[in-house]
Amino acid sequence: MKEIYKGKAKTVYEDGNEVVIEFRDDITAFDAVKHNQIKGKGFYNAQTSAKLFELLEKNNIKTHYIGMDDDIRMRAKHVEIVPLEVIVRNIAAGSITKSYPIKEGKEFEKPVILFDLKNDAYHDPLLNEDVAEALGVSNREEMNDIRNIALRVNEVLKSFFAEHKIKVVDFKLEFGRYKNELLVADEISCDTCRFWNEKNESLDKDLYRFDKGDVLAGYKRIYDIVTSSIGTQS
Ligand code: 5GP
Repeated sequence: MKEIYKGKAKTVYEDGNEVVIEFRDDITAFDAVKHNQIKGKGFYNAQTSAKLFELLEKNNIKTHYIGMDDDIRMRAKHVEIVPLEVIVRNIAAGSITKSYPIKEGKEFEKPVILFDLKNDAYHDPLLNEDVAEALGVSNREEMNDIRNIALRVNEVLKSFFAEHKIKVVDFKLEFGRYKNELLVADEISCDTCRFWNEKNESLDKDLYRFDKGDVLAGYKRIYDIVTSSIGTQS
């Protein structure tokens, strides 16, 4: 298979009209200024993503997910990635508490959706529909559709994790264009979400970003929840 993209934590191979996404053990933060390898991280992210994509599909949300080739390789539809990072926030944390006068931990009355341009060289700057259109990366109608899907994803994730006493603080989604449809693409994992337990302790990449504790233990906790609860009864 031909390698078509090597990102900070995943490598993508082309296989006919599908892709195979390999989840590596690399972990990075702060535009990859901080970079390490944590053995087993790729496995947990691959498995968590697979189960969460299955959960979305069960809830009639279309994703790029086809199945797993092995423990760390996901087979997916070959989409055209919309170069936007779609951030959904339920509780203030991370960059929003630096950019705006809002304290970490504040629960939003309704979800807050932000769009960043997917561009490391420019540090993924925030953009609105006008900028997206001017740059030719998306348009108002597509961004509105993306927004509506992102809100549905949020409802599914929030209610699933609430049953397990986990708060979905925020997360990042990417979307792919595929045969005139928008599919949820990329990954949904502890690298791309903030999950807090009942004591508001992180179970996600903030463990790594801010040296808050055992990174793999947090990732495993989320993996245990999703693998024991999704797709086991059907
Ligand atoms: P923040 O804007 O606070 O850095 O991130 C908000 C949420 O989106 C967090 O759950 C974070 O993990 C995710 N996120 C934002 N940007 C990126 C990114 O470039 N890569 C990854 N993996 N996650 C991101």
